[in-house]
Amino acid sequence: MEREERHQRFKWSRDLSQEELAVVNEIGEKTQNITLDSGRRDSWNWGSGQYSIKEAYEIIMTRTPFDEETNYIEAWNRFIPLKVAVLVWRLFQNKIASKDNLVKRGVLNQTQSDCPFRCAVTENASHIFFECSFPMQVWASVLRWLNIHTAMHNNAIENYHQFKGLCGMGRMQAEKFCVIWFACIWILWNGRNEKVFRDSSRSAEQMSEEIKIIIWKWLKCKVKGFNYSLNHWITNLAACLGIGC
Ligand SMILES: [Zn+2]
Repeated sequence: MEREERHQRFKWSRDLSQEELAVVNEIGEKTQNITLDSGRRDSWNWGSGQYSIKEAYEIIMTRTPFDEETNYIEAWNRFIPLKVAVLVWRLFQNKIASKDNLVKRGVLNQTQSDCPFRCAVTENASHIFFECSFPMQVWASVLRWLNIHTAMHNNAIENYHQFKGLCGMGRMQAEKFCVIWFACIWILWNGRNEKVFRDSSRSAEQMSEEIKIIIWKWLKCKVKGFNYSLNHWITNLAACLGIGC
């Protein structure tokens, strides 16, 4: 099927927003060179044909921490809801609907691009999640809970890798530990949207409490044997995650 035909086969039950149209176009661009074969069933397939541990090991060892493919995989943490992974994947590509991006797309004009928390600076992804005084208070509260004292990067990808490194444990524990990071991003994004669209705002302390609760809910759903009470989770995080921070 040609790209044009494929694109025309999408039928939407409502009009798409600017943001959604951008995602559809992006997917169209990424899949334009893929040829579909209607005569074959879908199946999993290893890049060079025959899977080998040696080749897989070489791919893992040669991949730098910040390449696009690695970050794509990192965003797909097993313990978080899909909508959160999609947000982080878009954040890693700087494609979220921050005001600076909406100005670039012609959706907003420059005079509408200030941070909703009235910092008098243009709102971009770094500002939303790390630089604005509001998220900084939320991070400070979460880091106090984790008993971690450090300055964090203001770039999402570097911040994520820095956070992941704070765990200092194996892959499985690190993946669970990173759920905390994803929850912070999710709650900060929702808090920012509530401020933009309803001018409502919660305190940084309220949001950090919300973060603790949402992580507990996600892990309870996704991790076998995670049967801790909310209170036990909040007061014994390291033991519940099987880590030593
Ligand atoms: Zn701000």
